[in-house]
Amino acid sequence: MNIILFGPPGAGKGTQATKLVADRGMVQLSTGDMLRSAIANKTELGLKAKAIMDAGELVSDDIMIGMISERMSHDDCKAGVILDGFPRTVAQAEALDGMFAERGITLDHVIEIAVDEAALFDRIENRAKETGGARSDDNADVLRQRLSVYHENTAPVLPYYADKGLLSRVDGMGDISSVSHHIEQILDS
Ligand code: AMP
Repeated sequence: MNIILFGPPGAGKGTQATKLVADRGMVQLSTGDMLRSAIANKTELGLKAKAIMDAGELVSDDIMIGMISERMSHDDCKAGVILDGFPRTVAQAEALDGMFAERGITLDHVIEIAVDEAALFDRIENRAKETGGARSDDNADVLRQRLSVYHENTAPVLPYYADKGLLSRVDGMGDISSVSHHIEQILDS
């Protein structure tokens, strides 16, 4: 099974993806983690991406599509993938359709984790405390920009998948296990 976890920064996509990896043996493809790893390895891409990420903007579609396409060609993805943080634009969603078609696989579900945006500021502040500020984009100013980019560029991906009949929505304001239970129900439906 191949799914997309969708939602604004701090919605809990990564947390839910980690649970699905443990429970179902699926593979998590987090473009944010891939970029952070490029930054940690001081690659040319990492150096370019860091400034963009710190400003709360999006890395270019070409780079992100290339990154996911390369990762999806690895054998472990045959177990089923959880896309976390991709697609973030309609162009990325269209490119993803092409990748799935090329590989003869299908996208089964797009799950939107819906959250109250005011609560995201507390969540991001907590995450910054818990991780000792590991992510330089986890602060209120950058979050404000990331949310504005989410509304402008990423939210338009929702109707794209609704039109294909793939979109489901879960309430992301509950505790981790209730959100996870709701996601499991969708996957088993
Ligand atoms: P995330 O860890 O998913 O919150 O991503 C952190 C940052 O990485 C984002 O704010 C963007 O700057 C960049 N990023 C991650 N995924 C994408 C993507 N699919 N398209 C463009 N930029 C991305």
